[in-house]
Amino acid sequence: MNETAHIQVLDESTIHLIAAGEVVDRPVSIVKELVENAIDASATRITIEVTTARVTITRIRISDDGIGIPSDQVTIAFLPHATSKIRTGDDLLTCRTLGFRGEALASIAAVSYVTIVSKTRSSDFATRFRITGGEVVEHTDIGAPDGTSITVEEIFFNTPARRKFLKSLHTEIAHITSLLESFSCLYPDITFRYLVNGQEKFSTHGGSALLDIFRALYPADARMMIPVSGEDGEITVTGLISLPGLVKQNRQRFLIAVNGRLVQAPTVISAVKRAYGTLIPGNVWPVAVLMLEIPPSEVDANIHPTKREVRFSAERKILDLLVQTVRRALDDADLLDLPAGPDEDTQISFNDIPSPSPVLVRYGAIAAAPAARQVCEATLAGYRTTSRQLLQTRLQESADEGPGRDERFPELFWIGQVGGTYIIAGDKTGALFLIDQHAAHERVRYDQLKQRESVHLKTQELIAPVVLTLSPSEAGFIPSVLPVLTDEGFIIEPFGQDTWCVRGVPVVLGRYEDPETVREIIGSILSEDEGPARLKEQVLRLVACRSAVKAGAMLTPEQGMDIITQLSQTEDPWTCPHGRPTIISFSCQELGKMFKRV
Ligand code: ADP
Ligand code: MG
Repeated sequence: MNETAHIQVLDESTIHLIAAGEVVDRPVSIVKELVENAIDASATRITIEVTTARVTITRIRISDDGIGIPSDQVTIAFLPHATSKIRTGDDLLTCRTLGFRGEALASIAAVSYVTIVSKTRSSDFATRFRITGGEVVEHTDIGAPDGTSITVEEIFFNTPARRKFLKSLHTEIAHITSLLESFSCLYPDITFRYLVNGQEKFSTHGGSALLDIFRALYPADARMMIPVSGEDGEITVTGLISLPGLVKQNRQRFLIAVNGRLVQAPTVISAVKRAYGTLIPGNVWPVAVLMLEIPPSEVDANIHPTKREVRFSAERKILDLLVQTVRRALDDADLLDLPAGPDEDTQISFNDIPSPSPVLVRYGAIAAAPAARQVCEATLAGYRTTSRQLLQTRLQESADEGPGRDERFPELFWIGQVGGTYIIAGDKTGALFLIDQHAAHERVRYDQLKQRESVHLKTQELIAPVVLTLSPSEAGFIPSVLPVLTDEGFIIEPFGQDTWCVRGVPVVLGRYEDPETVREIIGSILSEDEGPARLKEQVLRLVACRSAVKAGAMLTPEQGMDIITQLSQTEDPWTCPHGRPTIISFSCQELGKMFKRV
């Protein structure tokens, strides 16, 4: 940098390039913008074709049968801020289209070569228009059917830095697949056809019911979905939610659309989770497709160029409606009469520890009659408060005396177990120890997995191989995820289109592994979008978690002591792999203080 800074206004093309980056930062955003344009053009059929070569996407083509662009307006459509959808700021208050900023075509043309062929119904000819690096190189009349087809090539040819930051080809394709799955659910009236290198990945039939589309995309999950619908004045919510037996480790399968636009709305997600209450654990998400219709004047989608965020002016009212609607749907569904979820018998057991009440722990959550649920909620709430109070007391009274990393693991003896969840132990100094059995065992498993190579533990062949039918986007991730899974002891083989057969699992998962675990493990690494090292860590943690003894399982003193002994031999016995504490202790003196003896 020179000592004196020269401030200058950037030239037009640089400004475009920077602005383009906000709208199109990776191939999936090109697909999103173009499909949205086709939807805005009232298309009933949209075909998406992606072509790849070696490690990159070389071409994206979106064709629709919509209203088309008149020949004399094509050039204008590619100018920044050119739109047919609004005229003035006031129009934003009534605008129901997905686009309105007039930035997409200009942005895409700024970072790639675009060819558009478009025909309106009233015109005899179609227009072919080609723009390469912002320069118009062709504008002619040709014959073509009604509608628009846009071909994008040489993607990011002039932004090498962006090209470099793209993830692997598999990842980029999987993002596109997942986006198109979402569009298919949100627009069941439109026929979508999606091809990669000429091969059809999936297609939907326009006019089908949402549940049918959902079933076509996610056959394994569909039977656990129930419809929801509710309204409050002009606001309506419709869609599908999962019964408590079906949850995911990430939000990948939680779609929210506001007026047909896919949005990220953390407040909506928390409202829905609130509606499930204790039916599902706190760290997982239900599956949902929720479509909100809200008068456009009450929604501000103009916060970010990609319009993924929205703000509602009547947020409270919308969230209340959601909570009520979801609760009602769950109450109406007879939770005792659920379609068989993952079979209890196939759930991982820790050396056949009997679970206290199969009904209550079924589905990993409390899915029993309302009365039983209440009792359980009350009990759980009770434990939670008690342990929180104990923890607080402990933290206040001895902020830094607690067991640290360097401290030696105490020699413990078994006293008992409380709530089917915590081991109570003591040592010869008169201290009291509470051990979270799941967290502790998770740490043990994690360490075993990490050292697996040295102890020759690897794969356990399954008695009955598990066949997984993956959604197209999940299947898209398999190539990048497979090596990591294989490395960790899974044996997974192709078994037909989008179907995979799991013949073996890491030995700690046992011989009767249920398909959901493998699905979950794959499902949750999908959202990671990370390199192999992080993926491996993810898989390790998940396998550790899924193979560890559950909270709610009764332990015999021998089994309890077994966990304690194994925990004492781990590298970091004080926390579980997720960082939660495994042990809380109270010294004899602390106990004395609590009872006001000293
Ligand atoms: P926006 O969608 O925000 O209006 P775009 O840059 O995406 O901006 O598109 C500019 C204009 O081009 C649109 O307003 C529309 O008139 C026209 N257009 C784009 N794609 C299509 C299409 N597939 N069919 C018909 N018209 C289209
Ligand atoms: Mg647009």
